Amino acid sequence: MMARIKVITKPESNFLKVKCSKCSNEQIVFERCSTIVRCNVCEEVLAEPTGGKASIKAEVLQVLT
Ligand SMILES: [Zn+2]
Repeated sequence: MMARIKVITKPESNFLKVKCSKCSNEQIVFERCSTIVRCNVCEEVLAEPTGGKASIKAEVLQVLT
């Protein structure tokens, strides 16, 4: 008999794989960044800190937990 495994440990600080809307560069950003994260290629803003979770300005491709 299988018990349900509890894996929820407040997924509060994930890394996100995002795709720059301008140049399609893919890069990893921290979900709770404290500074503006810019694209490594074109310097488009990808994420802006809000005090909590960052405001993601790019397309999120994947959440890396
Ligand atoms: Zn870019």
